[in-house]
Amino acid sequence: MDQFQWYTKNTEETMAFAKRLGEKAAAGDVILLEGDLGAGKTTFTKGLALGLGIERNVNSPTFTIIKEYNGRLPLYHMDVYRVEDGEEDLGFDEYFHGQGVTVVEWAHLIEEQLPEERLKIAIHYTGNEERRIALHPKGKRYVKLCEELVK
Ligand code: ADP
Ligand code: MG
Repeated sequence: MDQFQWYTKNTEETMAFAKRLGEKAAAGDVILLEGDLGAGKTTFTKGLALGLGIERNVNSPTFTIIKEYNGRLPLYHMDVYRVEDGEEDLGFDEYFHGQGVTVVEWAHLIEEQLPEERLKIAIHYTGNEERRIALHPKGKRYVKLCEELVK
């Protein structure tokens, strides 16, 4: 069993959980989303955006790689599924160390470029509309965040 996990029964519950993370997020936070196609990575990002006070609709940035939204803090939403060379420097670092919150779908594809401290979130399909959300924090800040989220 993962130390930090959360079960959701439908889309709304996943968004509500992600929204709480968005409310607690701080500048420079890096959140990695993993899970199969259709697991709910973009759905999670939509919820997180609500927590950041973003009113624009967030959709998949697959064809642009990075989309930026303005809220209480900026949200940098990346989907690196189509990045051909995971080691190629496409300027990710500026986002990771920027004034916003970065969310990366399929983050393992650019593993070499990810910051050491980050919060990985794996979304597992456990039924038609059920998901298990496993949180894997690296670094004190993220451990604390997970403790607050999963209690
Ligand atoms: P991904 O970005 O991982 O490919 P999406 O978020 O685009 O996935 O799609 C997930 C789909 O699954 C959405 O249509 C969403 O409404 C649906 N869904 C059903 N149940 C859930 C749940 N519990 N959590 C998240 N999404 C869910
Ligand atoms: Mg997606």
